[in-house]
Amino acid sequence: MHGTYAVIGDPVDHSLSPLIHNAAFRKLGMDCAYISFRIQGNELRDGLESLAAAKIAGFNVTIPHKVAIMDMLDDVDPECTAVGACNTVTVNAGKLKGYNTDVRGFLEPLKRHSVTLDSANTLVLGTGGAARAVVHGLASKNAKITVAGRSVQKLDDITSCTNATLNTITFDDVAKVAAKSDIIINATPIGMNNELAPVPADSIQSNATVYDIVYSPLKTRLISNALERGALVIYGYEMLLAQAALSFEIWHKTFAPYDAMKQALFGMHGP
Ligand code: NAP
Repeated sequence: MHGTYAVIGDPVDHSLSPLIHNAAFRKLGMDCAYISFRIQGNELRDGLESLAAAKIAGFNVTIPHKVAIMDMLDDVDPECTAVGACNTVTVNAGKLKGYNTDVRGFLEPLKRHSVTLDSANTLVLGTGGAARAVVHGLASKNAKITVAGRSVQKLDDITSCTNATLNTITFDDVAKVAAKSDIIINATPIGMNNELAPVPADSIQSNATVYDIVYSPLKTRLISNALERGALVIYGYEMLLAQAALSFEIWHKTFAPYDAMKQALFGMHGP
């Protein structure tokens, strides 16, 4: 099996996807490569032509193209249509088909940690692309969902992107609602730059689950607060690896070597 794969976005320099996928190729002895390819916001169509000229066999899509690419695909998987955002594209005879592996990539670690979602009170922080995938995943498992956002317009937009009933709150009410939540999910970038945690430690119940999808740093202040309270924590890298493994399986139709992909991130002595 051979071919070149890519992640497109801007910025993409920091992307961990090349590290993860190239480790999987090495592990399975596949004659493939995975590169990062910067495409600026207003150059997506030209960028896709460059990918075709370079015979890229499949690619991941990240900020800022996850929604814009939807109009440029020949075919779209139903889950991708439902979320309205695409993070994985297959290329077959020049035809592009879009998938969204963030939804199942988000759900998979919850399943692995045996977290019950049915009727659980969940609090999702954020209204962006990742929050949409999170909301779709939670709704598919019949969770009760409250979304916190800082823009009333974006709270309305996320409410209308799903058939599920969502409660919406502003960040002023996060501490109060978090205290009554079984599962708290951070789907904002808060924590990437050592900011204060979006949920204070004393609003986290010891029997709650705290899932921070931020993966760099590994231990955000929110995760530290949750550990201090004795809550179950799910790290952003777990979703990162799960969505990467799902993309890998869509392209290569074979199981992704999860442990080798994880080892590429953390070495032998990872978490
Ligand atoms: P996005 O589309 O830009 O959305 C970001 C969201 O966070 C928006 O709702 C934004 O609000 C909100 N936000 C940003 N800064 C905030 C602040 N200081 N206070 C309150 N709200 C704030 O980004 P995204 O694609 O959803 O990604 C969000 C984060 O998830 C990123 O850190 C990304 O790396 C991470 N992520 C991780 C994985 C994984 O596999 N682990 C997958 C996808 C994304 P406004 O709209 O009002 O600005």
